Amino acid sequence: MRLVLVGPPASGKGTQAAVLCERLQVPKISTGDMLRAARAAGTPLGLAADQYMAAGKLVPDEVVIGLVDERLTAEDAQAGFILDGFPRTVPQAEALAALLSRRGLALDAVLQIDVERGLLVERATLRRTDKRTGQIYHLKYNPPPPGIELEHRADDREETVAKRLDEYEAMTAALLPHYQKLNLLRRVDGVGTPAEVLARILQALGKT
Ligand code: AMP
Repeated sequence: MRLVLVGPPASGKGTQAAVLCERLQVPKISTGDMLRAARAAGTPLGLAADQYMAAGKLVPDEVVIGLVDERLTAEDAQAGFILDGFPRTVPQAEALAALLSRRGLALDAVLQIDVERGLLVERATLRRTDKRTGQIYHLKYNPPPPGIELEHRADDREETVAKRLDEYEAMTAALLPHYQKLNLLRRVDGVGTPAEVLARILQALGKT
């Protein structure tokens, strides 16, 4: 199964990606993770990418396309993959199609996890982490037990969340119609428990 996973911040995309990789026995390929690893390792590519990442800008297409191209040759990606954070632009989507087609392959689906904006803001702004264990709580839906020290992630504050949602909407404005036209887009309702959302995803993929 060759899949692209798309969803706004706090949509549960990370949770679903982890479960889906297990279930489908394919790796998750995240360009954000690869760029952070390159930066941490201090490679020339990582250092060049850092100036874009630090400014909250997109790293140039040829850089991320090159990373994905190389990653897709790895042994563990031969049975399929779940792409997360790539493609972000139509040129990246076209490059992905080209590099798959070079290998005689194609995407099976682009899965979009849909959650209404108001709910995403509520999910993120009321999310808290236990400072000691890293356990995540939600003040309304999954309240923490009394007496633990909680942390509110800086990027979960309301202004930041609104900005990240704006960026997501701008990013997907051209990408999702592109995949819709190719009849690859599958939209799944992301409101519900993780198990409910997973069941919808598997159904949308014909994997039930
Ligand atoms: P992420 O973890 O996916 O939010 O990515 C973190 C940062 O890495 C982004 O803000 C971009 O600077 C860069 N990045 C990750 N994926 C891409 C991509 N597909 N195209 C361009 N830049 C990317």
